[in-house]
Amino acid sequence: MNKIDVLVIGAGPAGSVSAAMIHKAGLSVRVVEREKFPRFVIGESLLPRCMEVLEDAEFLDAVKAKKFQEKFGAKFMKEEKVSDFNFSDQFSKGWTWTWQVQRAEFDLTLITDVQRRGVPVDFETTVTAIEFLPDESSITSVEKKDGTTDKIEARFIIDASGYGRVIPRLFNLDKPSNLDPRKAVFAHVNDIHRNNHDEPNRIIAVMYAPGIWSWIIPFSTGVTSLGFVGSFDYFNAMGGDPSSQFRTFIDGNAYLKQRFGDVEWVFEPRKLEAWSATTDKFYGHGFVLTGNVTEFLDPIFSSGVMFATVSSHTASKMVIRKLKGENVDWDNDYTNFIRQGVDTFRTYVMAWYDGTLEKIFFSKNPDPEIKRQICSVLAGYVWDQSNPYVKDHAGSLKRLAKLIDVRERLDAL
Ligand code: FAD
Repeated sequence: MNKIDVLVIGAGPAGSVSAAMIHKAGLSVRVVEREKFPRFVIGESLLPRCMEVLEDAEFLDAVKAKKFQEKFGAKFMKEEKVSDFNFSDQFSKGWTWTWQVQRAEFDLTLITDVQRRGVPVDFETTVTAIEFLPDESSITSVEKKDGTTDKIEARFIIDASGYGRVIPRLFNLDKPSNLDPRKAVFAHVNDIHRNNHDEPNRIIAVMYAPGIWSWIIPFSTGVTSLGFVGSFDYFNAMGGDPSSQFRTFIDGNAYLKQRFGDVEWVFEPRKLEAWSATTDKFYGHGFVLTGNVTEFLDPIFSSGVMFATVSSHTASKMVIRKLKGENVDWDNDYTNFIRQGVDTFRTYVMAWYDGTLEKIFFSKNPDPEIKRQICSVLAGYVWDQSNPYVKDHAGSLKRLAKLIDVRERLDAL
């Protein structure tokens, strides 16, 4: 058995970024992936903060060549009210655009580029067990599609297995999220009326009913991802299967009915549920967790791939330093760093579902500077401590909502 420096579990964006960074540093790395690629995964709208990572991991040229739909902002709609955030008008310095991608194609692009650089990637190879040795190295058992097994010895493991949550599951590290469990039904549709309605360079979140919303993510091919998110109770009360629920949702909103009422579905609607999960610790003896394995909150602000790429980028740079003999401070430089970003988004997710953001987004005459600061959060710049809507995320949103309340009451006098 040849011992490699780093074993990466999973070939999603988190795994590809890790593999690219480790390889770039001159260490040996191998990726194992359970599925055959391309494979479907949800998570199609990126945030500008991803671009910094894609650039450093040298993926930008490969992704640009795919001509994915460029994304310049995020739009929130409730009936006739619209709140439009343009990333070019944001507070933090950084990227002002990103992409909306069919993930099967995007993930394949990244991992193919990793392979092109000479990194071995084993598809249809599932991690079944891991034994950590006293020196932090490990022996990982894998099973291939044909039933044969193998063992991989590595100095360190990066677990980027997304919803597979390999190490938390094998070692009982899973912890329930403090967010309410939610459900989604979604499909890709032929968006033939898109030009009569909205520009394709935005994600649109339509507020459907309290706590229920819809995403519209146009792709460059004319196809659009359309999904509905809500509580279990709401879906249970609807009854029916995902296709009938999808149809009921479309027909129940004037904008959605006009745009999508008579369009063809590329595939029958699918459902996903109870996706929020976290773990006790983000690193341990011989391993670090990245991407969705650390924590996934909620689809509303499209933060999943941003956290997947930023966490993998940060973790792999620390793994490189560690394997080169340096001391690293995992608690401060990794766990606390990622938690700070996740906690900022958690506040915004909660404020979305409790109505605070509805008040803020649709308030009359919003303060342009505050809007720029909130726009930076929506662009994924959740580590910029000079932004009061990052530094004191919960307090700033609460104070702003109160101020709007007072102003509205005065206006009504
Ligand atoms: P993944 O992309 O899930 O990749 C993990 C890989 O690990 C998979 O390919 C899997 O096959 C492999 N794997 C699993 N187990 C094993 C094993 N035992 N052995 C080997 N390989 C294994 N995010 C956004 O950024 N934008 C959005 O618009 C968005 N919308 C979403 C909508 C919904 C309804 C949900 C639930 C999520 C959404 N997300 C969104 C989140 C997004 O799906 C994830 O955050 C993102 O895919 C995480 O990337 P990753 O690389 O960590 O994991």
